[in-house]
Amino acid sequence: MSTARQNLLYGVTLLILLLVSIGVYLMGHNTPPAAHQDPTIAGAGNEATSQPPAFADINLKADSGRVAVIMFHNVVKERKVWFDCTIDEFKKDLDEIAADGFTVLSLDQLYNHLTKGDPVPPKSVVLTFDDNYQGFYDNALPLLRARKWPAAMFVHTAYVGSKTGYPKMTWDELKELHKEGLITIGAHTVTHPMNLKDLSLETQRKELEDSKKTIEEHLECEIPYMAYPDGSNDENTQAIAKDLGYKMSFTMEPTPAEGSPNILCVGRYEAKKFDKALQDQMDELDDVPIAVADIPLSKPAPVSCEAGEYDKTKLVLLRGGAAMSVLSSGRETVGDFVSENNAVAGINGTFFVMAAIASTDNRLIGPSRSEKPGDFMPDSDPFRLTKLVDRPMVLWGPTRFAVMPFQPGAMNQEQIFKSFMPDYTNAFLAGAWLVHDGVPRTEDEMRNYSSQDIQDTRKRVFFGVTKDGQFMCGASEGSITSETLAKAAAAAGVSEAVLLDSGFSASVVFDGQILVTGHSAIDNPSRPVPHAIVFLGDKGEKNIGDLKTVPAVLTPKSGAGGVDDEEQDRPVRHRRRHRRRSST
Ligand SMILES: [Zn+2]
Repeated sequence: MSTARQNLLYGVTLLILLLVSIGVYLMGHNTPPAAHQDPTIAGAGNEATSQPPAFADINLKADSGRVAVIMFHNVVKERKVWFDCTIDEFKKDLDEIAADGFTVLSLDQLYNHLTKGDPVPPKSVVLTFDDNYQGFYDNALPLLRARKWPAAMFVHTAYVGSKTGYPKMTWDELKELHKEGLITIGAHTVTHPMNLKDLSLETQRKELEDSKKTIEEHLECEIPYMAYPDGSNDENTQAIAKDLGYKMSFTMEPTPAEGSPNILCVGRYEAKKFDKALQDQMDELDDVPIAVADIPLSKPAPVSCEAGEYDKTKLVLLRGGAAMSVLSSGRETVGDFVSENNAVAGINGTFFVMAAIASTDNRLIGPSRSEKPGDFMPDSDPFRLTKLVDRPMVLWGPTRFAVMPFQPGAMNQEQIFKSFMPDYTNAFLAGAWLVHDGVPRTEDEMRNYSSQDIQDTRKRVFFGVTKDGQFMCGASEGSITSETLAKAAAAAGVSEAVLLDSGFSASVVFDGQILVTGHSAIDNPSRPVPHAIVFLGDKGEKNIGDLKTVPAVLTPKSGAGGVDDEEQDRPVRHRRRHRRRSST
C-alpha cells in the first residue's frame, strides 16, 4: 500500500471517528451515569460527616411500605448506549410487574404515601423516564397505555423537539401526554448539567427555575416534581428546589423510596437493576412483615412485678409505670439506674458498641434519644448503619409508643421523629422485633433484620407495650432463643415487643431487689451497662412466688472488674435470602 493511500485511509478513519464521536455526543444524553458507591454507605456517610439535610419530610408512617422507583431512559429497537432499554426488555419488565402482582403507582400516589403515610399495596412500583426521548412516545407509551399504567417523564427543556442524535418529544406531544393524564410530566433542568450540585447557586437556581416555568407555561399546570440530571444534588440544590416550589425530587441511589434521606432526594433504581429492585422488595415482604406500630399509651398503672410460666417458659415480668430510658456517661448496674432516678423498677437497655465489660464506651448501636440526658445521638459509624436496615426502631413519648423498621437514610436524624411524634422523649434501635400485633414472630421473620446470634440460647430480655397501652418488659429465668422469648412474651400479654441486650447484660430490678441477672447464680451481678429503662410511678403488686432475689448492687467506685466477657453484641451484616427469580 502506497504512503499516499495510507495517509488517505488514515484521514478518512479519523474523520469517521470524529463524526461518530460528535454523533454520540449529540445523542443528547450526556455521559452515562458514573458508577455509584453503595447507596446506603454514601447516604450514611453524608449524615455522619455533615449536618443533616435541611428537611426530612418523609413521614414515618410511610415505613409500612417499600416502593421501588425505576428509572428508564430511551426505549429503542436496538441498544446504542448502555442505558438504552430495548423494546423487548421493556416488555419483559412490564410482564414481570404483572406476573409478580405489583401495582404501578403514579407520582401523586407516591408523594401522598411518602409525605402523609397513605398506605400503598405491599408490592408497589413507580416507573420514571428521563430525558424526554421520542423513543418513549413511539415504543413505551403504547405498552403503558394498553395496561393503563401511569409513569413519569422528566423533561430537560432546552432539548424539547430536538432532532439531533436521539430525537426528543415535541411540546405538542408533551401536551398530549399531559392532557391524557397517564403520564406525569416533571422537570429535569434546562441544559441537563451533569454536575449540577457543583455549579454556582445562581446557576443551579436558574436551571431549576427556568425549566419549571417553561414546562408550566407550555402545559398550563403546576410542575411539582423533578429529577436531578445524573442524580447530582446536595443540601444546597435541595434547598433551592424546595424554595422554587418543588415538592418531590428524584436522585439515582438504588434504595426503596422510604429509605431516602428526604422527599427532595428520593432514590431510584436504574432500569438495569429492575430485577434487583423487585427482588429487594419481595425479600423484605417475605422475610419480615413491614409495619409501623403506633399504640396510644394509657395512664400508667402502678409498677407491678410477677414471675411465672408463659408458653412453657419461665419469665420475670414488669408491668405498668412510666418508662424512661437513661444513658449513662459510662457503665452502671441497673440498680444504679433505678436508685439514681428514684424509680420503682428497671431493666437493662439496648445493644451497645463495645461489649467488653471493662469498657467505658457508652455508644449505642443505631441512633437513640434517652429521656435522660435527652440528647438525640445519631449513629456516627456509616459502615455500621448500612447493616442496620429494617431493625426495629422504638420511640415513645407521654401518649404514644411506636415501632418501625429502621431506614438509615432518614432515621439517623432527629427531625423525622419529631415530625411523626412531636412530644417524643425516648428512642432506640432494638435487636429484633419479637412480637407484632400480639403475634410472636418466627425465627425466619426476625433473622434478617436483627442483631447477630438472636437464636443462641442465653438469658433474653424484651421491652414493649400491652394492647391497652401499658408498658411491659421482662427477662427469661433460663437461657432461651429469641424465638422462644417471642412466644413467651406474646403469651404473657405483650402486644408489641422488641429484644433488648441479653446474656450477661440481662438484669431486672424491682423494689431494690435483683430478680434476674445475666448469670446462673442470682448473687453474681450482671455486667454494668450504658443504657437502661427505668419505670417510674407507684409501686404495685409483687407476685414472684419462691423466686430467689438479692439486694440490688451498685457499681463499685473502683470499676466494674472483669468477671467475664463475651463478644456477642456486635452488629451484623444484613443478610438477605437470595432466591432466583423464575423469569431470569
Ligand atoms: Zn437525564
